[in-house]
Amino acid sequence: MNARDIASTVEVLLCATGICLLFDRLGFSASNIIMVYIVGVLFTAILTNWQGYSILSSIVSVLLFNFFFIEPRYTLLAFEKEYPLTFFVMLLVAFIASSLTVKLKKHAREAAQAAYRMQILFDTNRLLERVKNQTEIVALTAKQLGKLLNRNLIIYLCQNGELGKVNVFMADDSVPVDIYTSEYEKKAASWVLHNNKHGGATTDHMPDAKCMYLTIRVNEIVYGVIGIAIEKTRLEDFEESVLLSILGECAFALENEQTRREKEEATALAIKEQLRANLLRSISHDLRTPLTSISGNASNLISNGEELDQKTKVKLYTDIYDNSMWLINLVENLLAVTKIEEGKMNIRMAPELIEDVLNEALHHMQRMNQNHEIHVEYSDELLMAKMDAKLIIQVIINLIENATKYTPDGSQIWIMSKKQADRILISVKDEGQGIPDDEKEYIFDMFYTGVQKIADGRRSVGFGLFLCKSIIEAHGGTITVSDNHPHGSIFTFSLEAYQPRMEDYNVNGELYDE
Ligand code: ADP
Repeated sequence: MNARDIASTVEVLLCATGICLLFDRLGFSASNIIMVYIVGVLFTAILTNWQGYSILSSIVSVLLFNFFFIEPRYTLLAFEKEYPLTFFVMLLVAFIASSLTVKLKKHAREAAQAAYRMQILFDTNRLLERVKNQTEIVALTAKQLGKLLNRNLIIYLCQNGELGKVNVFMADDSVPVDIYTSEYEKKAASWVLHNNKHGGATTDHMPDAKCMYLTIRVNEIVYGVIGIAIEKTRLEDFEESVLLSILGECAFALENEQTRREKEEATALAIKEQLRANLLRSISHDLRTPLTSISGNASNLISNGEELDQKTKVKLYTDIYDNSMWLINLVENLLAVTKIEEGKMNIRMAPELIEDVLNEALHHMQRMNQNHEIHVEYSDELLMAKMDAKLIIQVIINLIENATKYTPDGSQIWIMSKKQADRILISVKDEGQGIPDDEKEYIFDMFYTGVQKIADGRRSVGFGLFLCKSIIEAHGGTITVSDNHPHGSIFTFSLEAYQPRMEDYNVNGELYDE
């Protein structure tokens, strides 16, 4: 019983009777009055949602017709003999008309519902193409199924052939979530996963579960299990067929996502393997030359040491020193690179004075290079940045070393530091040939060695700048190269400036380490 439907029925009957009374007064015949009541019954069928109201309306219409318009008026007695037949025909017409209207309405409703469901299915296809990862695929599928079924849903994704994490999507919050995640429910879901059949509510296996469970699969490969809360009413056939289509789409999306992930992993592995192979090849080649030189010079000194004059000996010692320093630097770089590559670079950040860091790098360089004039331009203010000093010193050494490698002896190199907004910029400027524009974007790549000839014929591995970039990016900074005028290059990297606070100092005025 619905108050709105009852009200509509009564209103229509009142209207029809009003119109009929008017017609009667105007002298219209009884057949016209009957037509008005039939139209009234039709209206009732359109306005109400249950056929009972139109049947009721047709019976009441007949009674009203009898009461108001058939002699003797204002009684329910019909004297003329054709009137019972008139009543019967009127009842029949009203009944058939209302049945047809109700049927039409039902068809229209079903057609609208089917169109809505097809629209959901269509939208699901389209939207699934856009989502990227498993979580998004599951969330989208649940959202679309929520629109279709308006029921609580739970979705398990498979992990190594077992049920993974459970995702519950509630359409009706009046029930507690845990009734869907109980051990019993999980057992039903697990049975479905391992047997690849429907299970749980409304099926033969564990019918007293709260949900009906289905697999999300492509052919025989199961990607997940979905549970649909079925308290009392079963799913309609059409709902079930759209549900299966959406689950099929979801499984395809999960399959595609898995394939894409596996492909990416395989590519990453291949790149890593390739890098490792290149690294080994390049290193074994690069180590051989200085080691041969060191061992040759040392052997020369051991066997002929006494016959060699002092100047030759110093030359041999210097060669050994230079080559071993080169090797040490290479090994330091290699260690840092492998750490970064394996993702376990353990950066120990602490506030450092830029001046100290530059001095430390210069100290190291001056021992190795006496052929270039290295100038440092310190900033007027005291600059500080948080960094792993050992790694940043390595960056500065690599940049200065490149500046000495790629510029003629006797040329000048400047090291500058300054603060710009909340960043510290450190630059190394040289007066060499510079770097052609088309090479600039590659010089930071691993193993890239440019067309530049090294001034004193030393070796080039293509590691230094790659390492600098990795270290600076791990610090959240950037490194760039630009042209010096009239010639040469300027390498500049940035670090976040550090503003010391009182609480960073201990009682002796020294900075606490992080
Ligand atoms: P390597 O010096 O071992 O080749 P790097 O990664 O340090 O490796 O440098 C990559 C390339 O960038 C070098 O081969 C060189 O061509 C170019 N390059 C680097 N620094 C300079 C510089 N200061 N002046 C000119 N070219 C440079």
